[in-house]
Amino acid sequence: QIFGDRKNSLGLNMNIHSQADDFINAVHQYRDKQWQGGPIVNGDVVDAHHKVAIHSPQNTSHHIGTICWGDKALAEQALKSANAAYRRWRDTDVEVRASALEKLADLLEANRIELIALCSVEAGKSLQDGIDEIREAVDFCRYYAQQARELMGEGTTLPGPTGETNELFVQGRGTFICISPWNFPLAIFLGQVAAALVTGNCVIAKPAEQTGLIAFRAVQLALEAGIPGDVLHFMPGSGAEIGSFLVSQEEIGGVCFTGSTYTAQAINRALAARTRAIVPLIAETGGQNAMLIDSTALPEQAVTDIVASAFKSAGQRCSALRVLFVQDDIADRVIDLLKGAMAELKVGDPILHETDVGPVIDGAAKSNLEQHVNDITQAGRLIARAPMPEYTNGGTFVAPTAIEIDNINQLVKENFGPILHVIRYKTSELDTVIQSINDTGFGLTFGIHSRNETFAADIARRIDVGNVYINRNQIGAVVGVQPFGGRGMSGTGPKAGGPHYLTSFVTEKTRTNNI
Ligand code: NAP
Repeated sequence: QIFGDRKNSLGLNMNIHSQADDFINAVHQYRDKQWQGGPIVNGDVVDAHHKVAIHSPQNTSHHIGTICWGDKALAEQALKSANAAYRRWRDTDVEVRASALEKLADLLEANRIELIALCSVEAGKSLQDGIDEIREAVDFCRYYAQQARELMGEGTTLPGPTGETNELFVQGRGTFICISPWNFPLAIFLGQVAAALVTGNCVIAKPAEQTGLIAFRAVQLALEAGIPGDVLHFMPGSGAEIGSFLVSQEEIGGVCFTGSTYTAQAINRALAARTRAIVPLIAETGGQNAMLIDSTALPEQAVTDIVASAFKSAGQRCSALRVLFVQDDIADRVIDLLKGAMAELKVGDPILHETDVGPVIDGAAKSNLEQHVNDITQAGRLIARAPMPEYTNGGTFVAPTAIEIDNINQLVKENFGPILHVIRYKTSELDTVIQSINDTGFGLTFGIHSRNETFAADIARRIDVGNVYINRNQIGAVVGVQPFGGRGMSGTGPKAGGPHYLTSFVTEKTRTNNI
């Protein structure tokens, strides 16, 4: 049984109208709500001076609330309090910590309508993406609770000479600084926090600027679930200021980061510049993810998976497909089908059931992506752009775009949005194609469509990535089933949602006793 005795998270079949309609009506009730948030230190919401108005990406004149940002003095206060609480929390029975996470999972489900609405209005998530987001957050809480009971329970007894016992234990490391991106504002935010807490660490969590309100609600629920206020602190603010300040502090136990490779490298440098304890950086970063389609593939199935991989969540998934390699013999057919599928994509308000692709996160992301489309189209050939909605209300929509290019080296960085690059290859060029993908230095996801099993297995072995998908889409890894994470410029590992993830949050102690 896949989940053991872990409870499955609540799904919803949006194709059953009676279920979907009730759900959509309930979500719509929250549409005009004004949310408020701010730093939480020692369990109290602090009324900080720096107030930031949050607008919705699908309608930039829609003001959805306000969040206050923390400052350095508040961050220092939170760190002092967390470090004072650390030994007490570390020595608390793992069962207490694991049960709190399971309570949090239940609370997330009980509040899921509000959270889905917030994911939609603050992060521009489609309803289906919102449902999946809550499920992933719930799964992380339950999975890490289960894993921690196995990892942190009794120590392991090791052999030794007569008269001596040897035991190996694991313990938390101190206060973890958890820094997360906006694209999974609940699931990644809480996945990091849950892993650090359940292994006996205290946490200061800094969310992405764009999605502080969702993270604020998550922390409120965590405190309600029984996580003590001096153990978990919340510090919204700018990464360049409060984020870099937190990771440069001497008295931290580690950093758990998800975001761009560039920021992970900056954090790595800040950690290296510290003079006391050497602490771990767990980083999950970007990708230049490819898919390869050989001439034995089923074009219809391949195109369904290409569209999902490249354009679902407006391409704002770290796992999303960026570069499609398609064998010459089948390329015209695949490109024709792709054009047809893209013409059917519905771009628009993410809270509507019929929407396939919502907005990108903000105006800066939109203009970077449009600039890239302009630049790369000069060097390549535009295949298709999906139709834009008639009324965008100032929303930051980017039309899903496919462009044919000659070489993956033309892409100098990760383009984090609904832009797909297509490259034709000949069978004789296969080795060069594989080399060029590995040479990008990224190593996150890779997809293969082929009916030749030996070929697919061989390519899967040769490509240096963390997650390979054969004859399916390459997004939406499931917690505890498809542990997720990359290598090289895509991250340090261990994989989130996998059996080794918690080991990075603990330190080992051997007890040798001459009795
Ligand atoms: P980002 O710009 O790197 O920001 C991530 C977080 O780091 C934000 O909270 C940001 O704060 C903070 N930050 C920025 N500069 C910092 C500094 N000098 N020190 C400490 N913290 C700092 O990434 P993003 O644009 O939010 O997210 C998209 C990226 O995340 C993409 O590259 C995507 O591939 C990657 N991603 C990877 C995974 C994975 O599992 N591998 C999953 C999801 C996303 P501000 O918000 O204030 O800038």
